[in-house]
Amino acid sequence: MAIEDRIKNIKAKISAISSKAELIAVSKQRSGVEIVDAIKAGQRIFGENRVQEAKSKWPEIKKEYPSIELHLIGHLQTNKVREALDIFDVIEILDSKKLADCFLKEMQKIKKNPAFYIQVNIGKESQKSGILPEETDEFINYCKTIGLNIIGLMCIPPADDEPSIYFKNLAIIAKRNGLKNLSMGMSADFEEAIKCGSTHVRIGTAIFGDRE
Ligand SMILES: *Cc1c(COP(=O)(O)O)cnc(C)c1O
Repeated sequence: MAIEDRIKNIKAKISAISSKAELIAVSKQRSGVEIVDAIKAGQRIFGENRVQEAKSKWPEIKKEYPSIELHLIGHLQTNKVREALDIFDVIEILDSKKLADCFLKEMQKIKKNPAFYIQVNIGKESQKSGILPEETDEFINYCKTIGLNIIGLMCIPPADDEPSIYFKNLAIIAKRNGLKNLSMGMSADFEEAIKCGSTHVRIGTAIFGDRE
């Protein structure tokens, strides 16, 4: 199936469950040609997980299509913060005070104020980054206090478990902290995620096919 048809199908599935949830097309490991196909099919929000890769693909595409909104969805080292601010419009992976402080410092230098999601390690997995659920309230307060524009929470639930309980738990944490956006749900579980309140699903494979 063509990228355009896949996007149409997914958007139909999304809007059958919620009129509010938005599609983030995850274009990691995808070529500029594939990305432009998706843009021509009406896709506006994209996600990339690596700064270096995004830097090699996106400046050119964004010049042509300035209304694109690019989200960073992969873990970031503090030495890449400045570059991330140059390329990304929304940062979904805020996961430590050190990173938050570093963003603030660089943002003040270049006078940018992007929107942030806090990544929550919702399944408390040792191999995943993110703030532990029980530490998230305090971390949200910290980020707000230093002046970051926190708009929501993001998570990747454990791969080998039923995701709903994790999605629901993230929704509870967001609600009690007055955060409206929930970035959760990928190709395999986005409908489940929307039923649990997801506002932004991050979908790669179901749009572009399997990655290498
Ligand atoms: C790759 C990736 C996705 C997309 O996963 P698919 O299974 O291809 O839909 C979503 N979120 C994050 C953080 C990713 O790294």
